[in-house]
Parts: sequence; C-alpha cells; structure tokens
Amino acid sequence: MTNNKIEGSNLRSVTAVIPATQTVEGAGFVVNRPFPSRVLRQFDPFLLLDEMGPMDVKPGEAKGAPDHPHRGFETVTYMLSGAFEHRDSSGHSGKLNPGDVQWMTAGSGVVHSEMPAKEFEAKGGRMHGFQLWVNLPKKNKMSSPHYQEIPKSKIPTARSADGRVTVRTIAGESLGTSALIETKTPIMYLHVTLEPGAEFAQPVRSDYNLFVYVVEGSGYFGRDKTKVAKNHQMVMFAKDGASAFMHADEKSPLEILLIGGVPINEPIARYGPFVMNTEQEIGQAIEDYQSGKMGTIQPA
Ligand code: FE
Repeated sequence: MTNNKIEGSNLRSVTAVIPATQTVEGAGFVVNRPFPSRVLRQFDPFLLLDEMGPMDVKPGEAKGAPDHPHRGFETVTYMLSGAFEHRDSSGHSGKLNPGDVQWMTAGSGVVHSEMPAKEFEAKGGRMHGFQLWVNLPKKNKMSSPHYQEIPKSKIPTARSADGRVTVRTIAGESLGTSALIETKTPIMYLHVTLEPGAEFAQPVRSDYNLFVYVVEGSGYFGRDKTKVAKNHQMVMFAKDGASAFMHADEKSPLEILLIGGVPINEPIARYGPFVMNTEQEIGQAIEDYQSGKMGTIQPA
C-alpha cells in the first residue's frame, strides 16, 4: 500500500483495469492489444494500442508488416528494443532504433511497410515496442501525409524532485519539459519509470480522456491509490480530478505509458487500416487504394 505524500482529493479516480488480449500473428509475432476489443472499441481520440512483444526473436525469424495502406488517422511507433525499418509510397524511408519515435500522419493516404531492420533480423534479439493509432478530426483526415521522426536523443527526459521518477516526454509536457512532437489535437504521451515504492502524480488537462498502459512491473493507481495493475494491463481514468496518480510496487520498478487526449466527438467509420467519418468515405478509401491513388512502394 501507499503512504499519503500526495493529496488524494484532486486525483482522478480509476474507472476500469482492462487486460490486453494477446494474439500471435502469422509466424509467431506476439501482439498484446488492450483495444480495440469487444469491451472497448476505442478511447476517443485513440483508436488502437498494440504492444509488439516483448518477445525474443531467433535470427532470421523477425516478422513485420509488408506493404499496406492507412488513411484518416496517425500511427505512433515507439520502440523499446529491437529495430524497425519503414518505407512508403512517396519514397520516404527511415529506421527506428530503441527509444526512437515515429509519429506518422497518414492523412489522405500512404502505403507503407514496417519491417524488422536487416541487422536485427540477421542477429535476432528482443523485440518490444508500441504502436498507437490517434484519430484525426474530419478537417485533417485528407491532409497531406506527414512524418515526425524523433531520435531517442531528442526526446526530453526529466526526473522528479526526489530523483525516483523518470519521465520521457514523447508528446505534451511533464516535469517542466516539452515534447518536440506537434500534434493535430492536444495529446499527452509520457513514458514514466518509477523506482520500487516511488509515487508520482502527473497534472492532466480536465478535458483529456486518459489511460495508463503498464509496460513492466505493477503498481497502484488512482484517487484511492488501491487499484492494482500490472504489465499488459490498461488503467482507465475518470475525468474527475486534476492529476493522474501512480505508485510502484515496493519490490520492483514500475514502467508505464501515460496517454491522454481531447475526445474528437465525431462519427467513426473504420475498416481495417482506414478510419473515416462515414461508410461512403470508407468505400472511397478502398477504391482509391485499389486504383493506386495512395501509391505503391518502389523496389529498393
Ligand atoms: Fe502501418
């Protein structure tokens, strides 16, 4: 249990703790997915969260996602270990190493591939990363595709006053640091690491839908400081307080992603990699993809 260093009255309460559903894709690629699921179709403005791994990959056995399209939203890829290579239909390419973030605004449409980096595939190793899908408001859905690629060295890292909590600010602000990433709607994306027994309260805008996904360890969350969650679980907060509270278990460090954003509150029509406002727009996306209007990836 926790001590009472941080005041409880102004903390957000926890509404639910949801386990991720684990699926093994293709030839053994492990994905833990807290949403979408039958119990949680989306958490506006967020459409999906995938935890890739963690898994140990043998040499030559790493798997990725070959050429596929996206339209109408953003994909945010954050690697913790392993490495991915990215190529798209406009000739853009890049590599994601541990600690790097790629914030891709698919907008009107890209066709891309996300594959294990060649050296990683050859050597094998631990694969662990995250992909978050962030919805775009109607006015941005058909904007030009855009990338923000932030290497590990450019992601602000700050420590709490007691030195026991470390925050990497991928989007938004924390502990006096601001992220380089620019978002279309206000978004907070923090990677927080707490030493065993440490506690932390992050101030959050009152209009944010907010959740934690536990990366490693276990801890206590929310206003009453008693809701327990561990790795592969998602903690949903109510909009009833000014800060999100967490406390690491006394025996082990706690590592979490704290993600929040203002709900877009527009109709959602989604079909696989296309997320629009109406079924008619989905039909148009399929037609545009099939007729090559989102482009094709040229061989290297
Ligand atoms: Fe993709």
